Amino acid sequence: MANDDMVWEELPKIDADPPRMRDKCIQCRRPIPVCWCLGLPNTRLSPNSRVIILQHPAEVKRCLRTAPMLTYALEPGKCLTFRGKKFPLPHHEGLADILKDPNTVMLYPTNDSVALDTLDPVGINGQKPYNLVILDGTWPQAKAMFHGSPMLYSIRSCKLVGLPTSEYVIRTQPTEGCLSTLETGTFALSILEGNSQLKDELLRPLQYLCRFQLQNGAVTHQSKEWRIKQNTYPKLIGKRLAKQLRVLPEVS
Ligand SMILES: [Zn+2]
Repeated sequence: MANDDMVWEELPKIDADPPRMRDKCIQCRRPIPVCWCLGLPNTRLSPNSRVIILQHPAEVKRCLRTAPMLTYALEPGKCLTFRGKKFPLPHHEGLADILKDPNTVMLYPTNDSVALDTLDPVGINGQKPYNLVILDGTWPQAKAMFHGSPMLYSIRSCKLVGLPTSEYVIRTQPTEGCLSTLETGTFALSILEGNSQLKDELLRPLQYLCRFQLQNGAVTHQSKEWRIKQNTYPKLIGKRLAKQLRVLPEVS
């Protein structure tokens, strides 16, 4: 498993940036030729709800992070990022209050998670704006963050259901239905706000980036799950993952 995980951590780095040093965009900090800022909305969006990103420190080092696309597409204060492995830490100003707020919901699968679209959108039945908590990291990181943060246990946990395949075509997703942070935040926010137009605007930087990368020779990756099912995935996979992804024999 360890080797396998490392490969997946390496992949985004390979695709992300050209090998030589270039000038960087002052906003997204990416080399100018692969900056996605032109895909951002002309005016920052101001939904009623807020997105609260709890980010694993290792996520900062990834080349193809998508959380900043959400940060820069929304009005200041509408997307807050707190970094750590546990939450809240003493320097996470205001986070404890957010986590205790009855209008706070978290995207995290637990036995009690409810489908996000069963919640009242803002304004319906007197629903106040939400704080949407997202754990930003790999799945094992997110799991560790959750278990290390008892204050998260009592937040209403929600899940996104019936989602499209990731548009993040230049990064191999570990399983079908695994979305980038931007996509997760965007779909969830659109549902909570009852505003599907938010999606079109918020996903544009990602589409912009993917289109650019594909035009410039990046390879479209199918998800790992898809490739294993198609028997085209060349690398040996771990036993646990193989078990998880095992395709049952077809009944004729
Ligand atoms: Zn930029």
